[in-house]
Amino acid sequence: MDTRIQKTFEALFALEEVRGLFRESLPTGFDADEEGAFHQQIAKLKAIIADLEAGSGSPGVTKIAGSLDVRSREEQYINIHPIQAAGRLTTEARKAIISYGDGYSTCDFCRKPFRLDKITKPGIVEFHAELAKWLNMDQARVVPGARRGFQAVAGTLVDKGDSVIVSALAHYTEFLAVENAGGVVKEVPLNAKNIVTGEATAQKIEEIKWETGKLPVLVMIDHFDYQFANEHEIAEIGNVAHHYDIPFLYNGAYTVGVQPVDGKKIGADFVVGSGHKSMASVAPSGVLAMTDEWAPKALRTTTMVGDLTKRKFGIKEVEMLGCTLMGGTLLSMMASFPTVKARTLKWDDEVKRSNFFIDRLLKITGSKVLSEYPRKHTLTKVDTTGSFDTVAKTHKRRGFYFSDELSSRGIVGEFAGATRTWKLNTYGLNDKQVRYLADVFIEIAEKYELPVQK
Ligand SMILES: *Cc1c(COP(=O)(O)O)cnc(C)c1O
Repeated sequence: MDTRIQKTFEALFALEEVRGLFRESLPTGFDADEEGAFHQQIAKLKAIIADLEAGSGSPGVTKIAGSLDVRSREEQYINIHPIQAAGRLTTEARKAIISYGDGYSTCDFCRKPFRLDKITKPGIVEFHAELAKWLNMDQARVVPGARRGFQAVAGTLVDKGDSVIVSALAHYTEFLAVENAGGVVKEVPLNAKNIVTGEATAQKIEEIKWETGKLPVLVMIDHFDYQFANEHEIAEIGNVAHHYDIPFLYNGAYTVGVQPVDGKKIGADFVVGSGHKSMASVAPSGVLAMTDEWAPKALRTTTMVGDLTKRKFGIKEVEMLGCTLMGGTLLSMMASFPTVKARTLKWDDEVKRSNFFIDRLLKITGSKVLSEYPRKHTLTKVDTTGSFDTVAKTHKRRGFYFSDELSSRGIVGEFAGATRTWKLNTYGLNDKQVRYLADVFIEIAEKYELPVQK
């Protein structure tokens, strides 16, 4: 690890030690021993800061709790991991988790009627309203991951044996949410270009109606899928769902937080997003938004009464299990939100940089793009069987030579050892970084004498 990066972590940890002293002392201040420990700790911190400034010194603290390594990938490298790129925290989110990391930290000022989304300090109530407005939906809730959004909707709409329409590229969590509710997934096939169309969705609905005598109870489709990040005919699919009067869940795991999403325009009854995938938030986090039409059902409140005590829990929402993200996860979402909102307006630039990189990759003879091209997303599935894999065949490190070459140049996040088909995500890289990334690929190709078009 670069010394300055190492020393940055060491300084942060030393400050946390100082913070620990405050937590262990009386509210009236330090006693003599604590005062001594405080000054000792500050002296240590100053030495670390001096090393940090000079880039000198040997690694002091390298572990957390004696065994956990410091994770410094995002500081040391350009990370092109397919699912990590847009979940990297903003600086504000990192501050929020320093400050709000304690368990139920959102609950300091929780007052009647005791529900997370009603808390005004910090401004959680306001954040919920903003989330809904931003997605152009009526209601929003924060959930522990997109999957918990699917689960809440499936738990509301799906009974035993009911069919749910998903795509042939659906994420596994959609399968599990349906299974958990006792339903059965029915996949819409892809067209020749690996796109889910409105027409194919309508056809699938007709087939199910014919086979089971019943309409599916939910259509749940990804705007951009996780395998190719191809754009599917989401508005047409929304129309088809409405034509059959079937509620439509828009899966925005790869859109909400990176590009503008207008739920009403799409015709979504539900919009689901992933905080840790696309909203620069701590895991597990996400958003479930819906129209007012569905709120009484999906956000129904408890009616359960204790048989002995006759207790009732009033406005707790059943599918949310009352409260959801009670600490640093939510505060990280809130702290990143202004940046996230602003960055969605720059989506076109992200796509441009994605295409810039892919165009350069395609100059390496034998390389292919398996996703739709030109790219409409920053996540891309590539096929380097005809280029980088030809080297792996005879290299003593096999496919790992490629990861070695990348990591020695400061690039990580590709699937280690994979030189045939693999995915990468350029989200969040600036011009300088994306040019560097492209240059690295060309440089490795040239090193192994793979032909590169000028
Ligand atoms: C990542 C992903 C999910 C799961 O998101 P979580 O927030 O981790 O639950 C669901 N659907 C798609 C299409 C995804 O890419």
